[in-house]
Amino acid sequence: MIPMVNLKAQYAEIKEEVERGLAETIENCSFILGPNVQAFEKETAAYLGVKHAIGVASGTDALHLALIAEGIGAGDEVITTAFTFIATAEAIAYVGAIPVFVDIDPRTYNIAPEAIEAVITPKTKAIMPVHLFGQPADMAEIVEICQKHNLKLIEDCCQSFGASIKGQQTGAIGDAGAYSFFPSKNLGAFGDGGLVVTNSDDTAAKIKQLRNHGSDIRYYHDVIGYNSRLDEMQAVILRAKLKRIDQYNQGRRHVAHLYAELMADLPVITPYEDKLGEHVYHQYVVLSDRRDEILKALQDNQIGCAIYYPVPLHQQNVFKEAYANVSLPVTESVAKTCFALPICPFLSDEDIHKIVSVIRGVLTA
Ligand SMILES: *Cc1c(COP(=O)(O)O)cnc(C)c1O
Repeated sequence: MIPMVNLKAQYAEIKEEVERGLAETIENCSFILGPNVQAFEKETAAYLGVKHAIGVASGTDALHLALIAEGIGAGDEVITTAFTFIATAEAIAYVGAIPVFVDIDPRTYNIAPEAIEAVITPKTKAIMPVHLFGQPADMAEIVEICQKHNLKLIEDCCQSFGASIKGQQTGAIGDAGAYSFFPSKNLGAFGDGGLVVTNSDDTAAKIKQLRNHGSDIRYYHDVIGYNSRLDEMQAVILRAKLKRIDQYNQGRRHVAHLYAELMADLPVITPYEDKLGEHVYHQYVVLSDRRDEILKALQDNQIGCAIYYPVPLHQQNVFKEAYANVSLPVTESVAKTCFALPICPFLSDEDIHKIVSVIRGVLTA
């Protein structure tokens, strides 16, 4: 059995440190916004090269609170991609804004900057690119469009912890960046967690209020807020993993490069690195017209596999009526042939060889 992500192997390495930290927290009873959340916020802000990092309850909340803090609201339009996890668009809908989906680049699967300007209207207030599968979106182009049209830029970094563009981390480029610590992400907790990063003092102050019932001083409430704090226990785990994040991401890159080498002669499309930034391979996504046969063979051999994403957002039941006349040919075509292979820092070369030989068996039979 080869899982998509081997969280057990990762835990073995950090077990002592995590158990010690958790035991201390239980002893101290400092469960809400305690010393580990505060330390983690400092440590991630330093790692990501931003002025502020604010822990919240999930990546979805990070996106949601960032939109509120940036003043995005009812009737505003936010340009984003349909080839992403639903949470990207859900967050936009939560604030009463309208997701405007544009097509993706056929090689990176990230939002295509050249498709953005055509859909800008007087109602457009923000762009929300997703650094999909761990590869930074084309931020130079997107920043230029935002400046030209005076739009907010909120980065969905839920899949890109540690990815950088010319030394600058994703999330540190726009007005705000949103991270998820869902267990399978590059930096994952043992439950839900998230983070908003920003260089703006004003945005940071708003996020801190919003995550804690609209309050700066206990029992004094200035706005309607939320209960969306990063959990202290999760912060213990995240601190242990943050120390090792570069090593984890290097491990992911090694896996990806070995896959690419071993599949170079096969009729599949392996991930393209545009080299604008450094890809941290949250997922390893391949395209093939023979996806169903390959997935069946992988399953028969107890090899984990998945489809990210089988249905683009504009075609999801929740959105398909409202977007009936939206056509995104590249997105739709990639969604029909894409599938993801196991990837994590703890996948052995031997297992990678085995996975590729199963795929080879299907394609050369
Ligand atoms: C995981 C993910 C989210 C949501 O994060 P949660 O922590 O699960 O709420 C949002 N956007 C993208 C692109 C994601 O991959």
